[in-house]
Amino acid sequence: MKRIAAKTVYKGIALGKIHVMQKSDSSVNRSRVDDPENEILRVHQSIDVAESQLQELYDKAVKEVGESNAAIFEVHQMMLRDLDYVESIENIIRTQQVNAEYAVAVTGDNFAEMFAGMDDDYMKARSADVKDISERLICCLKGGTSQGDVFKEPVIIVADDLAPSETVTLDKSKILAFVTVHGSTNSHTAILARTMNIPALIGAEMNLDELKSGMDALVNGFSGEFIIEPSEEIREEAKRNIQKEKEKQELLEQLKGKENVTLSGKKIKLYANIGSIGDLGYALENDAGGVGLFRSEFLYIGKNELPSEEEQFQIYKQAVQNMAGKKVIIRTLDIGADKQADYLNLGKEDNPALGYRAIRICLTQTDIFKTQLRALYRAAVYGNLSIMYPMIISTEEVEKIKKITAEVKQELAADNIPYKDVEEGIMIETPAAVMISDELAKMVDFFSVGTNDLTQYTLAIDRQNAKLDPFYNPHHKAILKMLQIVTDNAHKEGKWIGICGELGADPELTETFINMGVDELSVAPSAILKLRSIIRQIP
Ligand code: PEP
Ligand code: MG
Repeated sequence: MKRIAAKTVYKGIALGKIHVMQKSDSSVNRSRVDDPENEILRVHQSIDVAESQLQELYDKAVKEVGESNAAIFEVHQMMLRDLDYVESIENIIRTQQVNAEYAVAVTGDNFAEMFAGMDDDYMKARSADVKDISERLICCLKGGTSQGDVFKEPVIIVADDLAPSETVTLDKSKILAFVTVHGSTNSHTAILARTMNIPALIGAEMNLDELKSGMDALVNGFSGEFIIEPSEEIREEAKRNIQKEKEKQELLEQLKGKENVTLSGKKIKLYANIGSIGDLGYALENDAGGVGLFRSEFLYIGKNELPSEEEQFQIYKQAVQNMAGKKVIIRTLDIGADKQADYLNLGKEDNPALGYRAIRICLTQTDIFKTQLRALYRAAVYGNLSIMYPMIISTEEVEKIKKITAEVKQELAADNIPYKDVEEGIMIETPAAVMISDELAKMVDFFSVGTNDLTQYTLAIDRQNAKLDPFYNPHHKAILKMLQIVTDNAHKEGKWIGICGELGADPELTETFINMGVDELSVAPSAILKLRSIIRQIP
């Protein structure tokens, strides 16, 4: 038995087998082989394995994100069986008498280069797909697993760190907990763990090389401990605690359908933060009054190309339809900093959090922005959709947004495509936006405060840097004063205001927010019923 201390980002207890996610080792050695035919047989066997992995991914994706988005896994299956691709691998093995891994790596590079050099944008984008399938095939040849795997049994994911793009491709129903060596409480991976209601530990002091997938372990998010091969006594105690948690949850379930109202009659809306339509189930299960933040950038990351207007339209439409009349606030693309999509070639920056991100990308690459806006206005026809814009720092930005949205609507009208006007708001997540919130309030329909970024920019504390945790005070007076300022400025103009950063779910501040006059809190779905229970006990 080994106890490893860690920091909790989401409480909960999980008991099960671990799966160690090593950064995929894509290095391949060239070695001579005596029996090329046997290597070719290995290639074909691995193609079968890779194909069945892709089929499972396809089936899961159809359920979670719809057929059009799942289609990429079908394309990968076809590419794996492409005659030219397979023949090239076989030729290299036969003529050079080399190992299968090497032949796949060379073929993958050659084909990727060939696609990248084509004029057609669609074919160019296939370059990344060839690389992807080749990596998957090499991984299968090495007897390993690759990112995006479907686990047979639910597992505790153990990793050095997890990028949001990695977390989002994992099969959520097969994850018992996350444990990482690095990471920070406000990172997007931590936010995803909270959304999915999955116990998560960061800063675990462990050497990944000493751990093997399949080992038994216990994640205790209450004590901040990761215990490898726990004793029978500890396992029994954990089982009792899991049962107690279940009972507490059952009590909270009784609050479903009840109002978020204090004993003296003050009301507040409780909405859910989601990262994909797959999370809508969590929002509905937890009785969310709506979706207060749909982080649309997760449609852009973890894939090889920009999502098309049609793909986005289908997803936003499904979101509003599933929420059946409840408000769904979709935030436009907030990519950059820790949320990267390689195909966008955003480039390396010295200060990415202060860099080319979010609305700054949308206002300069207007084709990307317009595609998303078209999809949003079209989807609005099917339900209660609102749009909000991230990282605003000036009134000029809002004016530019208004000009672009007007153009988009004109273009839709000219093409006779049905669309609907919607409520439009901005995120208040920079100190600049707070200071001019009186002017901004006149220009938009609502504010939603992104306390994660507002705190990082106000306190000059990088939200990704775990070393700064001792300096990080989420209850800093500066933030609370700012919240009061923006709330008052919104209300002066008759606009509503919500909080969609992680602070909104802090139970120690619920009463403060209600007294400030905040109209809505948008939180991880798993926090909704706990907050409802707190609100209903406030005098
Ligand atoms: C925030 O900054 O508080 C916010 C809600 O946006 P994100 O966490 O996605 O940056
Ligand atoms: Mg933000």
